[in-house]
Amino acid sequence: MQSPASIEKETNTAVAEPPSKHERRLYELWGAIRDLGSVQELLDWDQETHMPSRGAVSRSHVCGTVATLKHRAVTDDELWEVIEACAAEAPEGSLLAAQARVARRDAARARRIPEDLAKAKAIARSRGTMAWQKARAAADFSLFQSELQELLDLAKEEAAALDPDGNPYDALMDRFEPGATEEELVPLFDHLVAELTPMVRAVMDSGKEVDESPVQGFFDVTRQQELAKYAASAFGFDFEAGRLDTAIHPFCVGIAPDDVRLTWRWQEDDLRPALYGVLHEAGHGLYEQGLPADWHRTPLGNAVSLGVHESQSRLFENQVGRSRGFWTWLWPRFAELFPEQAAAGSVDRIWPALHTVKPSLIRVEADEGTYNLHVAIRFQIERALFRGDLQVADLPEAWNDAYGELLGTRPADDSEGVLQDIHWSQAIFGYFPTYTLGTMTSAQLFEAAERDLGPLEEAFAEGEIQPLLGWMREHVHRHGRRYEAGELIERATGEPRSPAALMTYLRRKTEAVYGLS
Ligand code: ZN
Repeated sequence: MQSPASIEKETNTAVAEPPSKHERRLYELWGAIRDLGSVQELLDWDQETHMPSRGAVSRSHVCGTVATLKHRAVTDDELWEVIEACAAEAPEGSLLAAQARVARRDAARARRIPEDLAKAKAIARSRGTMAWQKARAAADFSLFQSELQELLDLAKEEAAALDPDGNPYDALMDRFEPGATEEELVPLFDHLVAELTPMVRAVMDSGKEVDESPVQGFFDVTRQQELAKYAASAFGFDFEAGRLDTAIHPFCVGIAPDDVRLTWRWQEDDLRPALYGVLHEAGHGLYEQGLPADWHRTPLGNAVSLGVHESQSRLFENQVGRSRGFWTWLWPRFAELFPEQAAAGSVDRIWPALHTVKPSLIRVEADEGTYNLHVAIRFQIERALFRGDLQVADLPEAWNDAYGELLGTRPADDSEGVLQDIHWSQAIFGYFPTYTLGTMTSAQLFEAAERDLGPLEEAFAEGEIQPLLGWMREHVHRHGRRYEAGELIERATGEPRSPAALMTYLRRKTEAVYGLS
């Protein structure tokens, strides 16, 4: 664990008071729920990394059964009574009050979803993932269309169960970003699109091209992995409490703070996708490893929201991993692993190539300037699906049109179009907006950290990431779910969540790389 001792000590106060009978029972019942959650995480991880494709049908039954058991545990009447008893006895503002608030929120949400629906969703999700993998490999959306239709129908059913009179998309987003609404996010995305589109256009119109050759050519995969793991370790990711495996789509699962799994994929002809994919997931992993171990298996022991999660991945990927300082430190190791490329290059030549602004097709590989436009497209498409303005059969065309319109580039096939993201196959709808919330928050948190710690570039050049990680541990990680996301960000930065820091950061980068403001 990377937490400074003082922080570890402070989190111990979480359960330092002798717990009451109800509190003890809450943690017993919650521990079993969390364990079933860990089983689900492990099953997902295995399905994405090691499971043979023919195992899909039997696996879907396992997933259905585990989901049913977990659903029963969360909706159990005894749990509800224990939560109410804890809420009644907890002093205002106490940790127990926060534990009860978060537990009640999760239990209330689950109690609105019928058991049959929870099970059907888990089975559809498992089948959907396998169908998506096949469809993606064949670049053929039709192989996933019926599974996706089923997943979408179940998501609509779930939204109706959660909030019969409300906005279905809000009900689904609430699972990932508690309290997020279309009403709040539509103007935010409109604002970002209005700011980013002219910035990207100005780069295109300038005709200035960044030399990408220092990061292109041939990069041996084993060496790429070595470099990525070396960099992730320098960030503070603990490989004794984590691992890295290969998957179609890079992701991170936190089975427990001492068991955090990252995945990656690579390209031999470009250094960036794999390296920045790993650094991104390592940022998620640092958050998972930094969650208070004492709160594991209690309601507060998880990440507060996916938006905050994404702030950590984007921050370590971009503000740290793409900084000139960090590359100054990484350079000797890079030169050892890739002597030919190093002989032809330098940090000054590589750095602009890490900041190319260029409309592209794949979100997870997009540059920082265009990234949020990829997210805006998904947000628009999902909302249209849930309003009923867009049918599943018309998705590939709608996707390609949206890319043509906003990014001026059209996918040649479905694998680089509508099939590129894993989310829908896993019954995950309403998640995409958290990518932009997280990107905004990463810039805001970094700005606040530098206000407290001073400029960090020089420390990065010495390989000193610990001061920044310590700041994140202190202001974000160690709080688990104690505060709502908005409150956590405001406490950490002194300001409400806002896109201002992100736009300042992006303008500064664009100016440095392209000479444009
Ligand atoms: Zn992420």
